[in-house]
Amino acid sequence: MKDLARKNIQNLKPYQPGKPIEELKRELKIKDIIKLASNENPLGPSPKAIKALSGAVSGVNRYPDGSSFYLKRKIAKKFGLSAKNITIGNGSDELIDTVIKTFTEERDEVLITKPAFLEYSILSKARGVKVKTVAVNLVNPERSRGIKDFQYDINAILRAINARTKVIFIGNPDNPTGAYLNKKMLGDFIKGCPNDRIIVFDEAYRELVDKKDYSNPFKCINKRNIIILRTFSKAYGLAGLRIGYGLANKRIIAAMEKLRLPFNVNLLAQKAAEAALDDVAHIAGTKKVIKTGKKFLVKSLEALGFKIVISPANFILVNCGKKSGNEIFKKLLKHGVIVRDMKAYDLPNFFRVNIGTMEENRRFIEVLKRI
Ligand code: PMP
Repeated sequence: MKDLARKNIQNLKPYQPGKPIEELKRELKIKDIIKLASNENPLGPSPKAIKALSGAVSGVNRYPDGSSFYLKRKIAKKFGLSAKNITIGNGSDELIDTVIKTFTEERDEVLITKPAFLEYSILSKARGVKVKTVAVNLVNPERSRGIKDFQYDINAILRAINARTKVIFIGNPDNPTGAYLNKKMLGDFIKGCPNDRIIVFDEAYRELVDKKDYSNPFKCINKRNIIILRTFSKAYGLAGLRIGYGLANKRIIAAMEKLRLPFNVNLLAQKAAEAALDDVAHIAGTKKVIKTGKKFLVKSLEALGFKIVISPANFILVNCGKKSGNEIFKKLLKHGVIVRDMKAYDLPNFFRVNIGTMEENRRFIEVLKRI
Protein backbone atom coordinates (compact mmCIF):
# COMPACT_ATOMS: atom_id res chain seq x y z
CA MET A 1 0.00 0.00 0.00
CA LYS A 2 1.11 3.53 -0.72
CA ASP A 3 2.71 5.37 2.19
CA LEU A 4 0.44 8.37 2.75
CA ALA A 5 2.69 10.02 5.30
CA ARG A 6 4.50 13.24 4.32
CA LYS A 7 7.56 12.44 2.19
CA ASN A 8 10.07 13.72 4.69
CA ILE A 9 8.85 11.39 7.42
CA GLN A 10 8.51 8.21 5.36
CA ASN A 11 12.06 7.07 6.14
CA LEU A 12 12.30 8.68 9.55
CA LYS A 13 13.33 6.36 12.40
CA PRO A 14 11.27 7.14 15.49
CA TYR A 15 12.99 7.98 18.77
CA GLN A 16 13.66 4.85 20.79
CA PRO A 17 13.30 5.55 24.49
CA GLY A 18 14.88 3.48 27.27
CA LYS A 19 13.01 0.20 27.70
CA PRO A 20 10.24 0.63 30.28
CA ILE A 21 10.43 -1.62 33.37
CA GLU A 22 6.85 -2.84 32.82
CA GLU A 23 7.64 -3.94 29.27
CA LEU A 24 10.58 -6.08 30.40
CA LYS A 25 8.46 -7.50 33.23
CA ARG A 26 5.89 -8.66 30.66
CA GLU A 27 8.58 -10.12 28.40
CA LEU A 28 10.68 -11.92 31.01
CA LYS A 29 8.01 -12.62 33.59
CA ILE A 30 10.43 -11.54 36.32
CA LYS A 31 9.62 -8.95 38.93
CA ASP A 32 12.99 -7.73 40.06
CA ILE A 33 14.07 -5.28 37.38
CA ILE A 34 16.28 -2.20 37.57
CA LYS A 35 16.36 0.57 35.00
CA LEU A 36 19.52 2.62 34.48
CA ALA A 37 18.61 3.66 30.95
CA SER A 38 16.97 7.09 30.89
CA ASN A 39 19.08 9.24 33.22
CA GLU A 40 16.21 9.56 35.66
CA ASN A 41 16.45 10.51 39.33
CA PRO A 42 17.09 7.30 41.30
CA LEU A 43 15.62 8.79 44.50
CA GLY A 44 12.18 9.39 43.02
CA PRO A 45 10.26 12.66 43.06
CA SER A 46 10.64 15.22 45.82
CA PRO A 47 8.31 14.50 48.77
CA LYS A 48 7.03 18.07 48.36
CA ALA A 49 6.02 17.28 44.76
CA ILE A 50 4.23 14.10 45.89
CA LYS A 51 2.28 16.12 48.46
CA ALA A 52 1.37 18.75 45.89
CA LEU A 53 0.22 16.03 43.50
CA SER A 54 -2.14 14.46 46.01
CA GLY A 55 -3.54 17.88 46.83
CA ALA A 56 -4.18 18.65 43.16
CA VAL A 57 -5.57 15.35 41.95
CA SER A 58 -9.21 16.07 42.79
CA GLY A 59 -9.09 19.10 40.47
CA VAL A 60 -8.40 17.22 37.26
CA ASN A 61 -11.97 17.58 35.99
CA ARG A 62 -10.89 21.15 35.10
CA TYR A 63 -8.58 22.11 32.26
CA PRO A 64 -5.15 23.21 33.45
CA ASP A 65 -4.08 26.85 33.36
CA GLY A 66 -2.71 26.97 29.81
CA SER A 67 -0.38 29.84 30.69
CA SER A 68 1.12 27.99 33.71
CA PHE A 69 0.81 31.33 35.54
CA TYR A 70 1.96 30.21 39.00
CA LEU A 71 4.81 28.07 37.77
CA LYS A 72 6.09 30.83 35.51
CA ARG A 73 5.85 33.27 38.41
CA LYS A 74 7.89 30.94 40.57
CA ILE A 75 10.56 30.35 37.92
CA ALA A 76 10.68 34.10 37.20
CA LYS A 77 11.27 34.85 40.88
CA LYS A 78 13.91 32.15 41.22
CA PHE A 79 15.95 33.53 38.31
CA GLY A 80 15.13 37.24 38.56
CA LEU A 81 13.32 37.23 35.21
CA SER A 82 9.93 38.30 33.90
CA ALA A 83 7.27 35.66 33.19
CA LYS A 84 7.57 36.89 29.59
CA ASN A 85 11.05 35.32 29.47
CA ILE A 86 9.60 31.86 30.16
CA THR A 87 7.71 29.20 28.25
CA ILE A 88 6.62 25.87 29.70
CA GLY A 89 6.61 22.65 27.69
CA ASN A 90 5.44 19.06 27.86
CA GLY A 91 8.98 18.04 28.64
CA SER A 92 11.88 19.81 26.99
CA ASP A 93 11.25 17.47 24.05
CA GLU A 94 8.17 19.51 23.20
CA LEU A 95 10.17 22.72 23.42
CA ILE A 96 12.77 21.37 20.98
CA ASP A 97 9.92 20.80 18.54
CA THR A 98 8.40 24.22 19.28
CA VAL A 99 11.74 25.90 18.53
CA ILE A 100 11.95 24.12 15.18
CA LYS A 101 8.37 24.84 14.16
CA THR A 102 8.57 28.46 15.29
CA PHE A 103 11.87 29.48 13.72
CA THR A 104 12.65 27.33 10.70
CA GLU A 105 11.37 27.35 7.15
CA GLU A 106 11.92 24.45 4.76
CA ARG A 107 14.93 26.11 3.11
CA ASP A 108 16.69 26.61 6.46
CA GLU A 109 19.21 24.32 8.11
CA VAL A 110 19.51 23.19 11.68
CA LEU A 111 23.08 22.72 12.90
CA ILE A 112 23.82 20.04 15.48
CA THR A 113 26.78 18.03 16.67
CA LYS A 114 27.28 14.33 15.99
CA PRO A 115 26.56 12.40 18.07
CA ALA A 116 23.94 14.55 19.78
CA PHE A 117 20.63 14.00 21.56
CA LEU A 118 18.57 12.34 18.81
CA GLU A 119 15.47 14.49 19.05
CA TYR A 120 17.23 17.50 17.50
CA SER A 121 17.60 15.71 14.18
CA ILE A 122 14.41 13.60 14.31
CA LEU A 123 12.20 16.62 14.98
CA SER A 124 13.99 18.81 12.42
CA LYS A 125 13.68 16.17 9.71
CA ALA A 126 10.05 15.60 10.65
CA ARG A 127 9.40 19.26 9.80
CA GLY A 128 11.29 18.96 6.52
CA VAL A 129 14.28 20.96 7.68
CA LYS A 130 17.78 19.94 6.62
CA VAL A 131 20.15 18.91 9.37
CA LYS A 132 23.87 19.64 9.17
CA THR A 133 26.21 17.96 11.63
CA VAL A 134 29.63 18.70 13.08
CA ALA A 135 31.58 15.90 14.74
CA VAL A 136 32.12 15.96 18.48
CA ASN A 137 35.75 15.01 18.87
CA LEU A 138 37.28 12.46 21.14
CA VAL A 139 40.13 14.27 22.84
CA ASN A 140 42.59 13.50 25.60
CA PRO A 141 40.85 13.79 28.90
CA GLU A 142 42.31 15.73 31.78
CA ARG A 143 42.22 12.44 33.66
CA SER A 144 45.03 10.18 32.59
CA ARG A 145 43.28 6.82 32.57
CA GLY A 146 40.51 5.50 30.35
CA ILE A 147 39.77 6.44 26.77
CA LYS A 148 39.41 9.93 25.44
CA ASP A 149 36.43 12.13 26.25
CA PHE A 150 34.05 13.73 23.80
CA GLN A 151 34.61 17.45 23.48
CA TYR A 152 33.07 20.19 21.34
CA ASP A 153 35.25 21.86 18.74
CA ILE A 154 33.94 25.42 18.85
CA ASN A 155 35.85 26.55 15.76
CA ALA A 156 34.47 23.64 13.75
CA ILE A 157 30.92 24.47 14.86
CA LEU A 158 31.40 28.14 13.96
CA ARG A 159 32.90 27.21 10.58
CA ALA A 160 29.86 25.04 9.83
CA ILE A 161 27.45 27.98 10.15
CA ASN A 162 26.36 29.11 6.69
CA ALA A 163 23.75 31.45 5.23
CA ARG A 164 21.01 28.84 5.73
CA THR A 165 21.78 27.95 9.33
CA LYS A 166 18.83 29.17 11.38
CA VAL A 167 18.97 27.17 14.60
CA ILE A 168 21.96 25.64 16.39
CA PHE A 169 21.34 23.05 19.10
CA ILE A 170 24.07 22.48 21.67
CA GLY A 171 23.55 19.98 24.47
CA ASN A 172 25.24 21.53 27.48
CA PRO A 173 26.05 18.92 28.57
CA ASP A 174 24.88 16.68 25.81
CA ASN A 175 23.50 13.18 26.06
CA PRO A 176 25.01 10.66 25.40
CA THR A 177 28.50 12.17 24.87
CA GLY A 178 28.67 14.28 28.03
CA ALA A 179 30.31 17.02 25.94
CA TYR A 180 29.82 20.44 27.55
CA LEU A 181 30.90 24.02 27.09
CA ASN A 182 33.36 25.47 29.56
CA LYS A 183 33.29 29.22 30.16
CA LYS A 184 35.88 30.05 27.52
CA MET A 185 34.20 27.86 24.90
CA LEU A 186 30.84 29.52 25.57
CA GLY A 187 32.37 32.99 25.24
CA ASP A 188 34.10 32.08 21.98
CA PHE A 189 30.96 30.50 20.60
CA ILE A 190 28.62 33.37 21.39
CA LYS A 191 31.14 35.91 20.10
CA GLY A 192 31.65 34.00 16.85
CA CYS A 193 28.01 33.18 16.10
CA PRO A 194 26.04 35.72 14.02
CA ASN A 195 23.27 37.33 16.05
CA ASP A 196 20.50 36.49 13.59
CA ARG A 197 20.71 32.77 14.40
CA ILE A 198 18.87 31.05 17.21
CA ILE A 199 21.23 29.27 19.61
CA VAL A 200 19.58 26.63 21.78
CA PHE A 201 21.47 25.48 24.85
CA ASP A 202 19.85 22.29 26.07
CA GLU A 203 20.54 22.20 29.79
CA ALA A 204 18.51 19.13 30.71
CA TYR A 205 21.26 18.15 33.18
CA ARG A 206 22.33 21.60 34.50
CA GLU A 207 21.40 20.93 38.14
CA LEU A 208 23.57 17.79 38.19
CA VAL A 209 26.73 19.05 36.50
CA ASP A 210 29.84 18.58 38.65
CA LYS A 211 32.39 20.70 36.73
CA LYS A 212 33.77 23.95 38.12
CA ASP A 213 34.33 25.44 34.67
CA TYR A 214 30.74 24.71 33.47
CA SER A 215 29.42 27.67 31.49
CA ASN A 216 26.18 29.58 31.97
CA PRO A 217 24.68 31.52 29.05
CA PHE A 218 21.90 32.84 31.31
CA LYS A 219 23.21 36.44 31.41
CA CYS A 220 23.06 36.67 27.61
CA ILE A 221 19.41 35.81 27.06
CA ASN A 222 18.15 39.37 26.93
CA LYS A 223 20.95 40.48 24.61
CA ARG A 224 21.10 37.62 22.14
CA ASN A 225 18.82 35.12 20.40
CA ILE A 226 19.57 32.40 22.89
CA ILE A 227 17.11 29.83 24.21
CA ILE A 228 17.96 27.84 27.33
CA LEU A 229 16.01 24.60 27.75
CA ARG A 230 15.63 23.00 31.16
CA THR A 231 13.61 20.06 32.43
CA PHE A 232 11.95 18.67 35.52
CA SER A 233 12.66 15.13 34.24
CA LYS A 234 16.18 14.65 35.55
CA ALA A 235 17.34 16.23 38.83
CA TYR A 236 13.77 17.08 39.86
CA GLY A 237 12.59 13.49 39.39
CA LEU A 238 9.38 14.25 37.46
CA ALA A 239 10.07 12.51 34.12
CA GLY A 240 6.70 10.73 34.20
CA LEU A 241 4.80 14.00 34.38
CA ARG A 242 6.43 15.54 31.27
CA ILE A 243 7.36 19.11 32.07
CA GLY A 244 10.24 21.39 31.13
CA TYR A 245 10.82 25.09 30.52
CA GLY A 246 12.55 27.47 28.16
CA LEU A 247 14.20 30.81 28.98
CA ALA A 248 14.80 33.43 26.31
CA ASN A 249 14.24 37.07 25.42
CA LYS A 250 10.64 38.26 25.26
CA ARG A 251 10.40 38.30 21.47
CA ILE A 252 11.53 34.71 21.19
CA ILE A 253 9.17 33.56 23.92
CA ALA A 254 6.23 35.46 22.37
CA ALA A 255 6.87 33.72 19.04
CA MET A 256 7.06 30.28 20.65
CA GLU A 257 3.91 30.92 22.67
CA LYS A 258 1.96 31.50 19.44
CA LEU A 259 2.41 27.83 18.55
CA ARG A 260 2.03 26.34 22.00
CA LEU A 261 -1.01 24.06 22.21
CA PRO A 262 -3.62 25.58 24.52
CA PHE A 263 -3.21 23.02 27.35
CA ASN A 264 0.20 21.53 26.59
CA VAL A 265 1.18 21.04 30.23
CA ASN A 266 -1.20 19.20 32.51
CA LEU A 267 -2.39 20.46 35.86
CA LEU A 268 -0.59 17.83 37.97
CA ALA A 269 2.72 18.48 36.26
CA GLN A 270 2.43 22.22 36.91
CA LYS A 271 1.68 21.74 40.61
CA ALA A 272 4.41 19.13 41.13
CA ALA A 273 6.97 21.31 39.33
CA GLU A 274 6.11 24.31 41.53
CA ALA A 275 6.67 22.23 44.64
CA ALA A 276 9.82 20.55 43.29
CA LEU A 277 11.45 23.92 42.58
CA ASP A 278 11.27 24.69 46.31
CA ASP A 279 12.81 21.41 47.38
CA VAL A 280 16.46 22.37 47.54
CA ALA A 281 17.16 19.52 49.97
CA HIS A 282 15.91 16.92 47.48
CA ILE A 283 18.24 18.22 44.77
CA ALA A 284 21.15 18.28 47.23
CA GLY A 285 20.35 14.68 48.28
CA THR A 286 20.15 13.62 44.64
CA LYS A 287 23.53 15.16 43.86
CA LYS A 288 25.08 13.35 46.81
CA VAL A 289 23.72 9.98 45.68
CA ILE A 290 24.97 10.62 42.16
CA LYS A 291 28.42 11.66 43.36
CA THR A 292 28.86 8.52 45.48
CA GLY A 293 27.35 6.26 42.84
CA LYS A 294 29.47 7.74 40.08
CA LYS A 295 32.68 7.16 42.06
CA PHE A 296 31.66 3.55 42.65
CA LEU A 297 30.69 2.88 39.04
CA VAL A 298 33.81 4.51 37.60
CA LYS A 299 36.04 2.47 39.93
CA SER A 300 34.16 -0.78 39.32
CA LEU A 301 33.91 -0.40 35.53
CA GLU A 302 37.58 0.43 35.24
CA ALA A 303 38.49 -2.48 37.49
CA LEU A 304 36.58 -4.70 35.06
CA GLY A 305 38.77 -3.35 32.26
CA PHE A 306 36.18 -1.15 30.56
CA LYS A 307 37.15 2.14 29.00
CA ILE A 308 34.58 4.75 29.86
CA VAL A 309 33.49 8.28 29.05
CA ILE A 310 32.28 9.97 32.23
CA SER A 311 29.66 12.66 31.69
CA PRO A 312 29.61 15.70 33.97
CA ALA A 313 26.05 14.65 34.88
CA ASN A 314 24.48 11.33 35.91
CA PHE A 315 25.46 8.92 33.13
CA ILE A 316 28.50 7.08 31.81
CA LEU A 317 29.28 5.73 28.35
CA VAL A 318 30.88 2.31 28.50
CA ASN A 319 33.08 1.11 25.65
CA CYS A 320 32.73 -2.62 25.06
CA GLY A 321 35.89 -2.90 22.96
CA LYS A 322 35.40 -5.45 20.20
CA LYS A 323 32.01 -6.53 21.54
CA SER A 324 28.91 -4.67 20.46
CA GLY A 325 27.12 -2.55 23.03
CA ASN A 326 23.88 -4.14 21.86
CA GLU A 327 25.14 -7.62 22.77
CA ILE A 328 25.91 -6.56 26.34
CA PHE A 329 22.67 -4.58 26.54
CA LYS A 330 20.70 -7.71 25.60
CA LYS A 331 22.58 -9.93 28.07
CA LEU A 332 21.98 -7.43 30.86
CA LEU A 333 18.27 -7.36 29.97
CA LYS A 334 18.03 -11.10 30.50
CA HIS A 335 19.21 -10.50 34.06
CA GLY A 336 16.67 -7.76 34.65
CA VAL A 337 19.08 -4.82 34.20
CA ILE A 338 18.07 -2.17 31.66
CA VAL A 339 20.83 0.06 30.25
CA ARG A 340 20.75 1.97 26.96
CA ASP A 341 21.90 0.56 23.65
CA MET A 342 23.82 3.24 21.68
CA LYS A 343 23.32 1.90 18.16
CA ALA A 344 20.90 4.69 17.25
CA TYR A 345 23.63 7.20 18.13
CA ASP A 346 26.16 5.53 15.82
CA LEU A 347 28.15 4.37 18.82
CA PRO A 348 27.75 0.62 18.25
CA ASN A 349 30.42 -0.49 20.69
CA PHE A 350 29.13 1.54 23.59
CA PHE A 351 26.25 1.29 26.00
CA ARG A 352 25.10 4.04 28.36
CA VAL A 353 24.34 3.51 32.01
CA ASN A 354 23.02 6.08 34.44
CA ILE A 355 23.85 6.29 38.10
CA GLY A 356 21.22 4.65 40.28
CA THR A 357 20.90 4.00 44.00
CA MET A 358 23.88 2.15 45.50
CA GLU A 359 21.83 -1.03 45.54
CA GLU A 360 21.11 -0.68 41.82
CA ASN A 361 24.71 0.24 41.02
CA ARG A 362 26.00 -2.85 42.86
CA ARG A 363 23.50 -5.12 41.14
CA PHE A 364 24.47 -3.75 37.72
CA ILE A 365 28.18 -4.38 38.40
CA GLU A 366 27.49 -7.87 39.78
CA VAL A 367 25.49 -8.85 36.69
CA LEU A 368 28.09 -7.28 34.39
CA LYS A 369 30.79 -9.39 36.07
CA ARG A 370 28.71 -12.54 35.58
CA ILE A 371 27.98 -12.01 31.90
N1 PMP B 1 17.66 16.96 26.19
C1 PMP B 1 18.53 16.01 26.58
C2 PMP B 1 19.99 16.24 26.35
C3 PMP B 1 18.07 14.82 27.15
O1 PMP B 1 18.92 13.86 27.49
C4 PMP B 1 16.67 14.65 27.33
C5 PMP B 1 16.09 13.39 27.93
N2 PMP B 1 16.59 12.22 27.51
C6 PMP B 1 15.83 15.66 26.92
C7 PMP B 1 16.35 16.81 26.36
C8 PMP B 1 14.33 15.56 27.01
O2 PMP B 1 13.92 15.61 28.31
P1 PMP B 1 12.39 15.82 28.69
O3 PMP B 1 11.59 15.85 27.43
O4 PMP B 1 12.03 14.68 29.55
O5 PMP B 1 12.34 17.14 29.40
